[in-house]
Amino acid sequence: MTDFTNFGVREIRDGVAAGDFSAREVAESFNTAVEAASELNAFIVTTPEKALEAADAVDAARAKGEVLGSMAGVPIGMKDLFATDGVQTTAASHILEGFIPRYESTVSAKLWEAGCGMLGKLNLDQFAMGSSNETSYFGNVASPWRKEGTNAAMSPGGSSGGSSAAVAARIAPAATGTDTGGSIRQPAAFTGICGIKPTYGRCSRWGVVAFASSLDQAGPMARSVEDCAIMLGAMAGFDPKDSTSLDAPVPDWFGGLDADMRGKRVGIPKEYRMEGTDQAILDSWDKGAEWLRDAGAEIVEVSLPHTKYALPAYYIVAPAEASSNLARYDGVRYGLRDLPEGAGLQDMYAATRAAGFGDEVKRRVMLGTYVLSAGFYDAYYTQAMKVRTLVQRDFDAAFEQCDVILAPTTPTPSFPLNSLNDDPLTMYLNDVFAVPASLAGLPAMSVPATVTEDGLPLGLQIVGRAMDEQGVLNAGLAIEQRAGFTAKPEKWW
Ligand code: GLN
Repeated sequence: MTDFTNFGVREIRDGVAAGDFSAREVAESFNTAVEAASELNAFIVTTPEKALEAADAVDAARAKGEVLGSMAGVPIGMKDLFATDGVQTTAASHILEGFIPRYESTVSAKLWEAGCGMLGKLNLDQFAMGSSNETSYFGNVASPWRKEGTNAAMSPGGSSGGSSAAVAARIAPAATGTDTGGSIRQPAAFTGICGIKPTYGRCSRWGVVAFASSLDQAGPMARSVEDCAIMLGAMAGFDPKDSTSLDAPVPDWFGGLDADMRGKRVGIPKEYRMEGTDQAILDSWDKGAEWLRDAGAEIVEVSLPHTKYALPAYYIVAPAEASSNLARYDGVRYGLRDLPEGAGLQDMYAATRAAGFGDEVKRRVMLGTYVLSAGFYDAYYTQAMKVRTLVQRDFDAAFEQCDVILAPTTPTPSFPLNSLNDDPLTMYLNDVFAVPASLAGLPAMSVPATVTEDGLPLGLQIVGRAMDEQGVLNAGLAIEQRAGFTAKPEKWW
């Protein structure tokens, strides 16, 4: 049997369309790889039968000469934050354990329509809160990468860590992710893959378990820029069921890919040269600028003066929205119910939440209710919203001088699991470069740049103007073509 697990989205869909191999062979190959990789703990639930069913439908459609979808025959992993009809959806929480939706999220429905099959539901940080995939009720996800000379399990990043681990380990050619403050970009950077968070509103949030609604965006994670372009095209589009969905046509991002950067200006934000950033990361950033110059771009320095306030503002706005969104988990409507003997309604709420939410989720809910409470609302929440506007204005001003912004994705490479558990602040700092684009709702992508001396991947981030995913993807392609990133994790699982 041919092993298809090194194939990406484009190779699979083109090969299936050309009749070089069947969608079923591909699905079987990935199902086997998924099953053999249980040590990574990337999946909460596997659905091999769904992958086969979709593959058979594609093969049958092809045999009849029907027009195939843009991802026909590509089996993917689905982050377990997307509601999937008839398949358990948990957001990696105990409180939603056993919850089987009777509906399909818009994004996943679009992917099935495009011809994808589902390999399973991917593990994540609980309710997408985390940067290391250690807050899942279903256990940590291990990165397929290891630091040279050690066998310590490394973090695949978070919250889309099941997605990043699966794609990097080649047990899925691509996966969905969601990004509230870096959850697509940071795990992509940690595992040497690509991931793009589109402009806020491009992908419908309908049927995606809400964390912070004004920030949450879905996006693709895959091993190449072109695979991300294809998959984003399948995921995006106006949805009347999401009131913040962008009513705009979806461009042909794949068709529009062009790595020629002549006439483009690339901004280097000077405030991103922060203390605590690894030298290897700063070096890769310089390299990235060189690559884009080589592609024809002009490099200019830009200023984003409110950068240092972005992360603190995010940790007020996101928990505030989360505390409100998570109020729906009360033991009445979904999943877990803890009803102690003789308890009243309030006791049931309290017992269900105490048992059903993990520590990080409780920390966010407490932070959120605090900053929204009478007396503190203006001091914290209103201030944070003002900072958010200032961060947005910084980008508006910067984009008068440049077309895209180049920055590191993260301040450090991946770290060993369990090494930052007692240090939430350092954990939160993982997203220091990612959060500003989230607060401003801008498209942003991470592309693999290089590996460190001890063999860990590093990513570069490109941020674009609102709606300019094409500009972001094109700069990503220019980097990808020059970075020559071919490193692969050595198989130990
Ligand atoms: N790591 C950030 C947090 O914990 C971002 C998470 C995300 O983007 N979902 O909030």
